Amino acid sequence: MISSKAASFTESIIRDMTRLANAHGAINLAQGFPDFPAPEVIKRAAIEAIERDINQYAVTWGTKGFRDAIAARAAKRYGMVIDPDTQVTVTCGATEAMIAAQMAIVDPGDEVIVFEPFYENYGPDAILSGATPRFVTLHEPDWSFDPAELAAAFNDRTKAIIINTPNNPTGKVFTRAELDAIAELCIRWGAIAITDEIYDEMTYDGIEHVPMLSIPGMEDRTILINGMSKTYAVTGWRVGWTFASPEVTGAIRKVHDFLTVGAPAPMQEAGVVALELPDSYYDELRAAYTERRDVMLEALQRVGFSVQAPAGAYYLMCDSTPLGLPESREAARILTADAGVACVPGAAFYRDPADGASKLRFSFCKRVPTLTDARDRLLTWRG
Ligand code: PLP
Repeated sequence: MISSKAASFTESIIRDMTRLANAHGAINLAQGFPDFPAPEVIKRAAIEAIERDINQYAVTWGTKGFRDAIAARAAKRYGMVIDPDTQVTVTCGATEAMIAAQMAIVDPGDEVIVFEPFYENYGPDAILSGATPRFVTLHEPDWSFDPAELAAAFNDRTKAIIINTPNNPTGKVFTRAELDAIAELCIRWGAIAITDEIYDEMTYDGIEHVPMLSIPGMEDRTILINGMSKTYAVTGWRVGWTFASPEVTGAIRKVHDFLTVGAPAPMQEAGVVALELPDSYYDELRAAYTERRDVMLEALQRVGFSVQAPAGAYYLMCDSTPLGLPESREAARILTADAGVACVPGAAFYRDPADGASKLRFSFCKRVPTLTDARDRLLTWRG
């Protein structure tokens, strides 16, 4: 009854862990959503938009006001010159942006390079868009790639490379030198960089996020993806966007139109308010996330995991070898059921689950008391 495409991937392990967490009443450090409220002004703006009857379809590729606000923020933050009328598409989250971007550019037989470990969605995205994924390893301990391995992955079938920086699950933030090296290969092989920058405001210890779109020569061969979910703690609102050349934007807009028609109209009104928040909002965000990261890092080290401080995003990728835990899916199940703390098995981030067998990912996008509660539960479990 079902298509070979649908049969060839499993349900999301991350969302599955959320269901398991709920079933056991566990603290959910699996799926990456905050347990604290969104900024009050944004919530008020969404409520007011509904009260003003902004309840019908918005312009397919995003309201003019929201696209203008997104482009203005990119200009202020990165000095980017983006035309909101021809280069911005508002989507139902970065999730839709990624599949729409791939469906807009991929033909059967095209290859898309994906760094491994990778955010779970990229596997099914490639299958659904008809791309053949080619994986390039991010090597521990610093999750760097081997330039020779990357160069060997490019060929004349390479259509795109997906770069997620700051990175889920590793916390890696790609350096300018790394992006330069990737850009050179993209230009040499005529490939497009699709960059998932949903965590761009979450970098730590003074580390800077560099958008691929700002690398010379990449202006017309980058699809930048971002969204409101993480930066404004509104993962349930489903608002994201793409920046791309006018030609590629035209294709993305068509795909987006027939996938979803448009993103939620009242949330786009609130998005204008969000994107106009002062710099202090982002400074406070970074300070709060740095504290959460440090609390959870110390907690997991005390429990006995081998884990390093991530440079960005809001996850800690741990190695459970020192604790002698079983394979990651069983380990995550035990921690959820017995310790009352849910995490994501490393298997979710690798094509061959065996490569993630000793890994567990904990998210720290929670209030500090939630994190210290998780710490205490894990220490009690370990005994
Ligand atoms: N991209 C990455 C790397 C993520 O980690 C997530 C959520 O965890 C998303 C995209 C989803 O973003 P959105 O809520 O905008 O669809």
